[in-house]
Amino acid sequence: MIRRIAVVGAGTMGHGIAHAAAAAGYGTAMFDVSPQALEKGRLAVEDVVRGGVERGKVTAADAEMILGRLQTTGDLAQAVAEADFIIEAAPERIDTKIALIADIERLAPAGAVVASNTSALSLTEMAATLRDPSRVAGMHFFNPVHKMKLIEVVQALETSPATLAAVHEVAARMGKETVLVRESPGFITTRVNASIGNEAFYMLMEGVASARDIDKALKLGLNHPMGPFELVDLVGLDTRLSILEYLHRSLGEKYRPCPLLLQYVKAGRLGRKAGRGVYDY
Ligand code: NAD
Repeated sequence: MIRRIAVVGAGTMGHGIAHAAAAAGYGTAMFDVSPQALEKGRLAVEDVVRGGVERGKVTAADAEMILGRLQTTGDLAQAVAEADFIIEAAPERIDTKIALIADIERLAPAGAVVASNTSALSLTEMAATLRDPSRVAGMHFFNPVHKMKLIEVVQALETSPATLAAVHEVAARMGKETVLVRESPGFITTRVNASIGNEAFYMLMEGVASARDIDKALKLGLNHPMGPFELVDLVGLDTRLSILEYLHRSLGEKYRPCPLLLQYVKAGRLGRKAGRGVYDY
């Protein structure tokens, strides 16, 4: 049975995952290389917990317990030393993740599972340099973690059944639904989402309809909770572009990024974080 979880990376996803782990009853350690990011992540967890109390989802006493179970540290060795389950949520760069997972294997207990929250990258490649690649799997959470029900569980080439069972155990205790994906670039959701977003940019470039009307059509006609341009402004146009470039390289021509998306990125229209993307904020 899993008892202690370490979350590596305290950013947008890391803090949400650490909250989910502590709320599920696990002793949780959250690590980040940046002290500022670690502090910001800790405050963000407090915010989510406080929001839960305000909405009547958790009692004040439970909120105290959740925060009491969360420890933050700037020392990776300390974070993973007693963890039997580690979730990596560092930036989406294969070299960063390969190096980090090798450090985790060196510092964590021998049987610990290493799950990565990558949105699209190869878990097989991340695990390839490890002594025991069978302990690595994908655990793709969605943003914001406390609201989104799904986790995509990704089975890499060497992932063992015991590792998959541990990932499912943790997901269930966090109250999440899972789907099992055999490793493939972009898994299910990132691949479909990137295709829809790219198609929307092609339609905008061709003058088929305005951005507002394309968003409206997908929301009211297809029941999407957000339009593709609202979503890409939230995700970041640069992030979306790098995902499409990766899918294009690995899966072929139909994922070629739309030239208009490239042009927006060159113009610095990166989305909400830049104050302007497809829309101005
Ligand atoms: P982020 O930039 O918000 O956070 C990443 C954090 O990792 C930062 O705080 C950074 O200081 C820290 N970091 C950098 N190098 C590190 C290292 N070597 N060790 C530990 N921490 C390190 O990024 P994010 O949006 O939270 O994304 C993290 C992962 O989650 C990525 O793989 C991303 O693809 C995936 N993901 C993101 C989303 C999303 O909507 N943002 C959704 C699902 C999955």
